Amino acid sequence: MKSYLTKYRCIECGKEFDPNELHYLCDECGRDYLPGMPLKGVLEAVFNYEEIGRKWKQNPDPLLFSAVNSKFYPPLPVGNTPFFRVNIPGLKSGGTASNYTKLWIKFDGLNPSGSYKDRASQLVVADALQKGIKEIVTASTGNAACSLACLGASAGLKVVIFAPQNAPPAKLIQIQVHNAELHKIDGSYDDAFKAALEYTKTHNCMCRNTGYHPLTIDGKKSAGIEIYVQNGYKVPDWIVIPVGDGVILTGIYKAFLDLKKAGITEKMPHLLCVQAESSDAITSYWETGIYHDAENPITIADSIKVKTPALAHWSVKALKETDGKCIRVSDKEIQEAQLELAKETGVFSEPSSSATLAGLKKVVNHSWLKDAKDIVLLITGHGLKDPGAVKL
Ligand SMILES: *Cc1c(COP(=O)(O)O)cnc(C)c1O
Ligand SMILES: [Zn+2]
Repeated sequence: MKSYLTKYRCIECGKEFDPNELHYLCDECGRDYLPGMPLKGVLEAVFNYEEIGRKWKQNPDPLLFSAVNSKFYPPLPVGNTPFFRVNIPGLKSGGTASNYTKLWIKFDGLNPSGSYKDRASQLVVADALQKGIKEIVTASTGNAACSLACLGASAGLKVVIFAPQNAPPAKLIQIQVHNAELHKIDGSYDDAFKAALEYTKTHNCMCRNTGYHPLTIDGKKSAGIEIYVQNGYKVPDWIVIPVGDGVILTGIYKAFLDLKKAGITEKMPHLLCVQAESSDAITSYWETGIYHDAENPITIADSIKVKTPALAHWSVKALKETDGKCIRVSDKEIQEAQLELAKETGVFSEPSSSATLAGLKKVVNHSWLKDAKDIVLLITGHGLKDPGAVKL
C-alpha cells in the first residue's frame, strides 16, 4: 500500500520539512533542545487526508494511514493484535460505570517482540530501508531495544542499543539474541537517551529514540486505527494508556485526530493516562500546568519509568483536547492488577500494562466515567518479558 504522507510539520512553529529526507527535530525550535529536558520542536507527520478519506470509503484499510509504503516493511508482521471483550468482576463491585460499560482489551503484548514498541520500530525500519540506511541506534529502558533488535534482524539491518544496566534480565537477553550491539549504560534511561544522540552524530545511521524520530509517534498511531475498526467502526469512550515518555498516548491521540481529519469520524476518545507514583512527570504537569522532572522514579514497571518524558508537552495537549484524565498507581496496585488480569482474562501483561487495570480500578467510581459505554485497556507488553516482577 502506498503512503499518503505529504510532509513533516513542527508542532511548535509550523515549519515544514520534506519526509523524503532524514529529519528529527525542527531545525529552529529544536536548536535549544538539550538531552535531559522534554523534546522541543517535535515533528508531526502530515498526510493527504482528503485522498485517504476517499480511499477509505472504497476499502477501510488501516494501512492507508501508514507514513511509509508498506512494501518497505520488514518481513516479520507487526500489529493487527487481538481486541476482545473482557469481564473483570473486581471492577463491577460498586463502580458507577460498571453495569452498562463494555470493557475491552487491545493485547499488544502479542506483537513479535512482545510489546507495543514494535509498531514504532516497524515504521522506523521501513523508513531506513526506503532511505538506504543500514544501521539504526536507539536508547531504551528495554522494550524499544528488544523491538528494534527483533525487527532490525528481520530486515537485515545493524542495530545498536544503549540501555541502562538495570533493565530486566529477560529484556537484555532478548536484545542480544537478535545480535544487536548492546551498550549497557551505568546510569538512567535519560543517560542512555543522551548516549544514543551522541552516537548518531558520529555515525552514518538512523536514530530511533522515542519521540525524536517523528515516525516513532506515527508508528504508535496504528493501534488507534485498529481499535476503531475492531470496535465495529466506533470510537470508544475511554482508552486507558500506560504512560512513560508519552509517545503511545500521543500516537493514540493522533490516530483519532487523523481519522477525524480524513472525515471518517467526528468524536475523539477520552484518554486516561496511568503513571507509576514516582514516575509521574506528565501527571503533575497536567495537574499544575508547570513542567518538572519526576525527581526519583523508582517502580517495578520499568517500561514507564521515566524522569524526563520526551513528549511531555504534546501529551498534556492531547489530554486537554480529549478531556482526558491522569491517575497514579503504586507498585502494589500494579502487582495486584497483574494477577487479576491474568486470572480473570487470561492475559499475562507486564507491570507497565497492568497499570491500566490498576488505574481504572481507582477511578471507576468517578462521575466522569458514568456515561462511558466502551472502555479499552491498552495492554502494551507481555508478562513473560519480566517474570521477576510478579508477586504471587
Ligand atoms: C514503552 C512502553 C510504555 C510507555 O510508552 P511511552 O510512549 O514511553 O509512554 C508502556 N508499556 C510498555 C510495555 C512499553 O514498552
Ligand atoms: Zn519549529
